[in-house]
Amino acid sequence: MAILVYVEHDNSELKADTLKTVAAAQAIGGDIDLLVAGENCQAVADAAAKVNGVRKVLVADNAAYTNQLAENVSALVVELAGDYDHILATALSVGKNFMPRVAALLDVAQVSDIIGVESADTFVRPIYAGNAIATVQSLDAKKVITVRATAFDAVATDGSAEVVALSNATDAGISAHVSDELTESERPDLGAASVVISGGRGMQNGDNFKLLEGIADKLGAAIGASRAAVDAGFVPNDMQVGQTGKIVAPDLYIAVGISGAIQHLAGMKDSKIIVAINKDPEAPIFQVADYGLVADLFDTLPELESKL
Ligand SMILES: Cc1cc2nc3c(=O)[nH]c(=O)nc-3n(C[C@H](O)[C@H](O)[C@H](O)COP(=O)(O)OP(=O)(O)OC[C@H]3O[C@@H](n4cnc5c(N)ncnc54)[C@H](O)[C@@H]3O)c2cc1C
Repeated sequence: MAILVYVEHDNSELKADTLKTVAAAQAIGGDIDLLVAGENCQAVADAAAKVNGVRKVLVADNAAYTNQLAENVSALVVELAGDYDHILATALSVGKNFMPRVAALLDVAQVSDIIGVESADTFVRPIYAGNAIATVQSLDAKKVITVRATAFDAVATDGSAEVVALSNATDAGISAHVSDELTESERPDLGAASVVISGGRGMQNGDNFKLLEGIADKLGAAIGASRAAVDAGFVPNDMQVGQTGKIVAPDLYIAVGISGAIQHLAGMKDSKIIVAINKDPEAPIFQVADYGLVADLFDTLPELESKL
C-alpha cells in the first residue's frame, strides 16, 4: 500500500501540522511519500526529507504552484494518484481547498477531517460540529482524506528520505493569485501555540483586547476570539476559533467573556486544560472548563496580569 501526503508550507517552511498528518498516514500503514508543490521551495523539500518514516519526497518546484492554487495543485495530485491508494492532506485552508477537487476528479468520496484511523479503509471523524463522532468506512479504490492535525501527535524529524524532482507543471489557467492579507504578529501561530487566550463578545470592543495582550505576552500565548467578537469587528477573522474558524488544541486554553456556544467548543474543546472567565455562572463554557472563574473580566484580567 502506498500513501501520498501533501506537505503544507509557505515555500520556505514546512508547517508543523504536516508532521501530524504523516502520523495519520503511519497509522494507516504503508509506504509514505510526501509531495511538496511550490516555487523556490528547496528548503521545504529538505525539511520534508527529514520527516520520520518517509520513503521519498516528490518536489514540484514550478511557478504554477507558487501560491498552491487549488486548480493547479489538484491537477498535479491527480496526475500522481495512480501510484497511491491513499492521498492525505491536512485539513487547513490549502488542503481543504484542493482536496475536494481531487476527490471529484477521481470520482471518489472524500473522507474529511479524520481524528482517528481504525484501519486502512475505516476512519473516525467528528460530525455535527463535533457533537457526534462517526466511524466511516470508505469502499472507494482510492481514499482521499483530510486530517485534523490536532488529533495526532507529530512524528519525529530524524529521517533521510530520497528527494525526487518532478517535471510536472500544470497551470490550469483558470485562476490567479491576487494578494494575501495576513496579520503580522510576533506571537505564536494560533494553530500551533501551546497556550491560547481568547476573547469573546464580553470584551465589548477591540481596544479591550489589549487586556489579553499583556497576559499573552507573559504566557507566550496566541490570542484567539469567538466569532461574535470577529463579527462585531473587534479583531480580524483569522483569530476566530471554532467550527468555522481555527481548530486548536493547546495545552492551556483561556476563554474570556465567551459563552461557550457549540460552534466555539468545536474549535477548542480538545484543549488539554480549559480555563473560563465569565460573569454568568450558567454560561455553557463552564461545562467544558477544568477551571472556571465567575467574575467580571475587567476586574480579573488586570489582576491576573499583575499576578503573572
Ligand atoms: C454555522 C455557524 C458557525 C459558527 N462558527 C463559529 C465559530 O467558528 N466560532 C465561534 O466562536 N462561534 C461560531 N458561531 C457563533 C456561535 O453560535 C456564537 O454565536 C458565538 O460563539 C458567541 O460568541 P461569544 O461567546 O463571544 O458571545 P456571547 O454568546 O454573546 O457570549 C458573551 C459572553 O461574555 C460574557 N460576559 C459579558 N460581559 C462580561 C464581563 N464583563 N466579564 C465576564 N464575562 C462577560 C457573557 O456572560 C457571555 O457568556 C457559529 C454559528 C453558526 C450558526
